[in-house]
Amino acid sequence: MEKNHPMGLAVLRALILVLAFWALRFAFAQAPAKAVLHLVFVIDGLRPDSITANQTPILSRLGNEGVIFENSHSVFPTVTRVNSASLSTGMQPARHGIMGNQIYIPAVDPVNAFSNDNFLPLLKLGELSDGRIVLTPSIAELTAEIGHRYVAVSSGSTGSALLMAPRAPRGSGAVINGNFYGGSAVGWPETVSNEVLRRFGPQPKLGGARDNFNAAVDWSMTVLREYALPELKPSVAYIWVTEPDHIQHAFGAGAPQSLPSIRNDDRHLGLVLEGLDKLGLRERTNIMVVSDHGFSQTVYGVPWRARHRFRNACQWRDRVPRYCRRQSWRHEPMDSEEHHDCMGAGLQARRTRANTERECRCDSYDSALVGPSKGQCTRWPCAQRGAREWPRRRASGNRDAHAAYHERRL
Ligand SMILES: [Zn+2]
Repeated sequence: MEKNHPMGLAVLRALILVLAFWALRFAFAQAPAKAVLHLVFVIDGLRPDSITANQTPILSRLGNEGVIFENSHSVFPTVTRVNSASLSTGMQPARHGIMGNQIYIPAVDPVNAFSNDNFLPLLKLGELSDGRIVLTPSIAELTAEIGHRYVAVSSGSTGSALLMAPRAPRGSGAVINGNFYGGSAVGWPETVSNEVLRRFGPQPKLGGARDNFNAAVDWSMTVLREYALPELKPSVAYIWVTEPDHIQHAFGAGAPQSLPSIRNDDRHLGLVLEGLDKLGLRERTNIMVVSDHGFSQTVYGVPWRARHRFRNACQWRDRVPRYCRRQSWRHEPMDSEEHHDCMGAGLQARRTRANTERECRCDSYDSALVGPSKGQCTRWPCAQRGAREWPRRRASGNRDAHAAYHERRL
């Protein structure tokens, strides 16, 4: 983004969130007379090698006319919502507090890590923490602070959408996503939601795992072009484009099935540029194109569960409820001896949801306060039954980071 080139068209080869953040600040500080609009397109899961003159002529041209960041990289872990929060705050995960696509926050769910692709547990987190869904101010709030408007328009998950404007439910910034509340409301503030629904109707229903979500992209980009940009008149807009992430999860990076989605994204980018022309804004708009992550092909997985199960068993027990599980229990009824052992050890016998395995469960382990410091490890009876310990659903990311997050939060 250069002062003398307000078009400043930059195709970032992957995520460049810190630069994006500073670029915005720079733009406000240095060139307010020239750039009045800053658009950040986040094309979910787009790999740099997907951008070619044939396949994506608009993106390719933007890159050639602007700036390409050769060595940018997503923040780690390179998953969607961690990077959503980094994009919306300009911060590393340790600062903004979203360390995984699943996060474990006992106040929200004392038993399981929750998936933050759904906005509802994030909303609950906000209710419990005075709106602190993320732990640092977002660009939406910073934009509002200097008297400008911010809007996020998203075809991604409701969770990543809310992370684009985490305090929108409390009046800071606007966010539009067709899947909030099953489509019965499509964002904050309510006036925006109502107006979008009145004009555009609900977003078309999404297909299954092997169908592309192009219709959602079409809907959201239409809302962006025909309503959000001309009428909300933001100074900063984040546009989250859900494809080709979804379709590449089904068929692989660069699969033939993903190409129509990539081309569709490119087409929409061209339509937005035309829209900017009509609004007389094109020469005063900075455009950044980023991705939250790319895709990598893997040929084997690291058996981290096997490696960590015993070494870190006691540590993990601090935060995650644990079970006994034994392979031979599969498809067997829970016998009375097992039941007795469970009960005798102060555990509850329970069946798994699929009813194919038997587990002993200690409810007290659901509390965040049990663990090695309480001497619980030595009492764990799995080994006595020839069974293995098993975290039911592990909070992803780094354990210490989760712990620190939890402590900061509550
Ligand atoms: Zn993603």
